[in-house]
Amino acid sequence: MIKTHIPELKILLSTPQDIVIVPHKNPDGDAMGSTLALYHYLKAYNHQATVIAPNDYPDFLKWLPGNDSVLIFESQQDQCKALINKAQLIFTLDFNAFHRTGDMETPLEQSSATKIMIDHHQQPDDYAKYTYTDVSMSSTCEMVYNFIEMLGDVEKINADIATCLYTGIMTDTGSFRFPSTTSRTHQVVGDLMKRGAKNSDIHNNIYDTNSYSRLQLLGRALQNLKVIPELRTAYITLSQAELDEFNFKKGDTEGFVNYGLSLKDIIFAAIFIENPQEGIVKVSLRSKGTFSVNEFSRAHFNGGGHTNAAGGRSEDSLEATIEKFISILPQYKNELSQ
Ligand code: 5GP
Ligand code: MN
Repeated sequence: MIKTHIPELKILLSTPQDIVIVPHKNPDGDAMGSTLALYHYLKAYNHQATVIAPNDYPDFLKWLPGNDSVLIFESQQDQCKALINKAQLIFTLDFNAFHRTGDMETPLEQSSATKIMIDHHQQPDDYAKYTYTDVSMSSTCEMVYNFIEMLGDVEKINADIATCLYTGIMTDTGSFRFPSTTSRTHQVVGDLMKRGAKNSDIHNNIYDTNSYSRLQLLGRALQNLKVIPELRTAYITLSQAELDEFNFKKGDTEGFVNYGLSLKDIIFAAIFIENPQEGIVKVSLRSKGTFSVNEFSRAHFNGGGHTNAAGGRSEDSLEATIEKFISILPQYKNELSQ
């Protein structure tokens, strides 16, 4: 547990260090919120800190304080590799295995920097000297709040840090509704509001910036929704042609999978989105209760995540992926019909 290492970490952080902070590929609100919050915190101690995202992320995250300082590995490789090579410390946030960073995997593996992992996913790898991992946490942002608190620095949480942390907790908890939301989560969020997080503005910035074409794409996704009532399962498909028809932009399909789960009596929802550029079908899985989509994804779709939210991929065609999905579901009949 990281608590026993806090005195050591305090000494390590007491002199300015070259630090790189990394979220996972296709970063979401929790990944960008946690990395940018930590960036602001470390900057206040005069560290040379940089957030390097493996690839680009949706526009609805680009208003976050500090966004302009983020480097994108995919498009700024030389600069990013130089910073990774020079880094004394590398924080990896909201993921727990280097392969989750795509092409950053090798530079991260080769780096001699001391690694610090802060994450709430299952089955962490052991690359980090300091590991703070807890699957019961609502979000990595809640853990970064705890980390700052353990370092005795809650008073250092300014409006920028509070805004970033609030954003990640809000997005990872489905606006405080998922079971991972605890009374402690609400206490943390309350404290973040006291320290300058503007809850209503943050919600607007994330959720109320829809384009007309995104809502039309949602309409198509809902028309494509299929239900298998006897297995309490619902799934959505989106082909590349459909994405093109509605002028798809990164982030447009975020949250679509949850609509399946909003159906009465449905406890397992999936969305399959074609991505011919990467030659894959991106799979997102959600569940209610004890059915583990993490295990389902690890077993069948080369992915992982949490018990109730996981992702993965398929290298088959969209049609073959759906066929495979439908054919394996009956194996889970007992768990799904409970
Ligand atoms: P999403 O469906 O929103 O992409 O991801 C849901 C959760 O699963 C997130 O916590 C995300 O980090 C994790 N996740 C998504 N894709 C993958 C994957 O390919 N591998 C693993 N291990 N986790 C994933
Ligand atoms: Mn997260």
